[in-house]
Amino acid sequence: MQKVAVVGGGASGFAAAITVARAGGFSVTVYERLQKPLKKLLATGNGRCNLTNLHADVSHYRGDAAFAENTLARFPVQSTLSFFRSMGLCTKTEEEGRVYPLSGQAASVRDVLLEEARRLSVRIVTDCEITKVRAQKRGFLLNDTYACDVLVLCAGGSAAPQHGTDGGAFRLLGQLGLRIIPPAPALTALVCKRFPKNLKGVRCDCAVTLRTQKETLAACSGEVQFTEYGLSGIPIFSLSRYVSESAQPVFVHLNCVPTVSRGALLDFLRAAVRKTPQKSAELLAEGLVPHALGKALLLQSGIRKDEPVGMLTEARLERFADILQDFCAEVDHPRGFDFAQVTAGGADCAAFCADTMRAKRYESLYVCGEALNVDGDCGGFNLQWAWSSGRAAGEAIAARQKAKKEEDTCCESRN
Ligand SMILES: Cc1cc2nc3c(=O)[nH]c(=O)nc-3n(C[C@H](O)[C@H](O)[C@H](O)COP(=O)(O)OP(=O)(O)OC[C@H]3O[C@@H](n4cnc5c(N)ncnc54)[C@H](O)[C@@H]3O)c2cc1C
Repeated sequence: MQKVAVVGGGASGFAAAITVARAGGFSVTVYERLQKPLKKLLATGNGRCNLTNLHADVSHYRGDAAFAENTLARFPVQSTLSFFRSMGLCTKTEEEGRVYPLSGQAASVRDVLLEEARRLSVRIVTDCEITKVRAQKRGFLLNDTYACDVLVLCAGGSAAPQHGTDGGAFRLLGQLGLRIIPPAPALTALVCKRFPKNLKGVRCDCAVTLRTQKETLAACSGEVQFTEYGLSGIPIFSLSRYVSESAQPVFVHLNCVPTVSRGALLDFLRAAVRKTPQKSAELLAEGLVPHALGKALLLQSGIRKDEPVGMLTEARLERFADILQDFCAEVDHPRGFDFAQVTAGGADCAAFCADTMRAKRYESLYVCGEALNVDGDCGGFNLQWAWSSGRAAGEAIAARQKAKKEEDTCCESRN
């Protein structure tokens, strides 16, 4: 029986282990450094596990996205949904195609994976960090102790070390001579320079653009969260990887009133001045943006909150409209791996076969999930990559074994 070692008991590790074990004829062991497997899964989707997204195509991936395209096409969202249905998990789809377990609890996803692994007699060895890997004539030797015929490395990236992922995968891949694209935090908040402290806790739907002084890097929209250090929220998370990539100073531009044209906004402000000239400026943006944000933006545009609006000249109104629709903050840095949801960078996919996840220079080494240089947008795309790549490796291992058996049978009958 072929021995398959899966290093990392996370999302892609379980997808690979279950897929191989379902094929039969393998002894599958998962080595997990933490006390319990699938710990990170419990934290995903704010404890609800956004396990995939109906719109998971290549446009939502960065890094070696072209490499991911093939795998995502072979193991698309519908296949992920059938995989989970086959284990008894019911799901529901929410806005923007985000898929969650029907129970609304990430623990349901963990439990069905654990139960399926148990049913298939997958061995799970916990409290076992693999720190050393050596290629042997046949297979690999882990920590000078555990021998295996096939190694599936699913040890994640460097993001969220509190959930077990501290870049150990990259150290192991380095021992095998594989190239690592330098890892950087992605899907993380942005620490901004000279950021107004009094905005902490404010949330506002904004159109967000990331720019250097020369060019626009990327843009998206959604609910932005203001914090004591800068900006957070899904659109900021999605843009954060572009900051790490830029050698130039980067600026975040927020349109805090994105659904109103500039002309209509000015007309609204002018009408307020005309109708209620005694009203204090503090109330000028009332109803347009959250109160605290309106106050802070007034201050930025040089208007005192107790000034009667009737005192405001057209030029000052225009300046206020400018700031409402183009509030700019300079980014100091993205928050680090401790706060990031995923890793940009990782094992260079050029060294792997896109249909199988197998390393080109090793017959029986497979790498899946975040350890590879593929990262997705916020919204279920990263877990989809973990399931797709894990299952691609699992099926490839099973198919290879089947082909070898057929070849052996063929040779026997010829002799
Ligand atoms: C707070 C948070 C929320 C998230 N929410 C979502 C979400 O809702 N939807 C989404 O799509 N993505 C989400 N993500 C991202 C997603 O969880 C990851 O991209 C995905 O889990 C990666 O899967 P993986 O199998 O590659 O690695 P992981 O799931 O990280 O698993 C790697 C496992 O390997 C173990 N390990 C590491 N090194 C070793 C070693 N040397 N020896 C043995 N074991 C080792 C780790 O302990 C870990 O259990 C979130 C991430 C975080 C941190």
